[in-house]
Amino acid sequence: MNRLLDAGLPAPRTLRSADDLVAAGLAVSSSELTAVTAAYATAITPSLADLIDRADRADPIARQFVPSPAELDLRPEELPDPIGDHTHEPVTGIIHRYPDRVLLKAVSVCPVYCRFCFRREMVGPDKDGSLSPSELEAALAYIRQHPEIWEVIITGGDPFMLSARRAAALTRELEAVPMKVIRWHTRMPVADPDRVSSEFVAVISSRSKAVYVAVHCNHPRELTPATLGACARLVDAGIPLLSQTVLLKGVNDDIATLEQLMRAFVQARIKPYYLHHADLAPGTSHFRTTVEQGQDLVRQLRDRISGLAQPAYVIDIPGGVSKALASPADVETESGRVRLRGRDGVMRDYAGT
Ligand code: SF4
Repeated sequence: MNRLLDAGLPAPRTLRSADDLVAAGLAVSSSELTAVTAAYATAITPSLADLIDRADRADPIARQFVPSPAELDLRPEELPDPIGDHTHEPVTGIIHRYPDRVLLKAVSVCPVYCRFCFRREMVGPDKDGSLSPSELEAALAYIRQHPEIWEVIITGGDPFMLSARRAAALTRELEAVPMKVIRWHTRMPVADPDRVSSEFVAVISSRSKAVYVAVHCNHPRELTPATLGACARLVDAGIPLLSQTVLLKGVNDDIATLEQLMRAFVQARIKPYYLHHADLAPGTSHFRTTVEQGQDLVRQLRDRISGLAQPAYVIDIPGGVSKALASPADVETESGRVRLRGRDGVMRDYAGT
């Protein structure tokens, strides 16, 4: 139970303004943050506020959620829509970038607002909220009209912000469409684990479709007992979990943290799926590593942990082209000659072709 509730004090609430952050001991002065919170949405749930170590000025949880004046530093290479959602949006709420799958952006709000978010220009309480009934119907009609769609990825914002009633209605609608896989993308198990209730898990379960949930988590400390409980409720209901992690400077750009995180995912029955290179979102240069640093970390991961625990390191090509696999290759080919890199770093000739 939360410490404040234990003491009979008012229930803590989500921090949403510079003044809230100062009152919670997460910022010294609100004046230096007002411009940042005006530009980009801010929310830190009680669970995550509790997790922040106030004594550590470099705390990796604080770094992800507490606004920073560095966000006002805009770089020429940064883009308001870094992965080109809008160039593939045939109807409101549908992103059709790859032939066999679509994104269904059900809501534009989140329980927390990550300071590095690639959709930071599109999410927040002042944006469009959720799809209206007519927009949702048009989105579902689009899916029905495209039988090549095999998978619907429900995203946002964070679609676990839907009420259980609306999540149930959406699941039932999708069950009536001849596609096969429903995948939810969410930060909720980390941000507000109690909202991943047994009731919510039951309503997104399906007898006729395969349902997956991809959990966004970037640091092993985010996997608290409550978060692990939320993940267990999903897995125990027969919903396989995948991980999504963003490689972030000052959060997880060291091999010990990444190794611990990937091992913790597997132990929690979450299959490591993607390690995203940080996108060119506005005001996020202080989070970006170089690709070379990312590749070096991924190579070290491969040398240290089981194949089961390996994520794919990917970069979204700006403009919405596709993801590029950024993992370093262990194979060199030249003039028909193949050489393979071993975990000792030595390249060896391969007799096959
Ligand atoms: S939860 Fe996802 S969509 Fe929401 S702010 Fe974080 S990264 Fe962006």
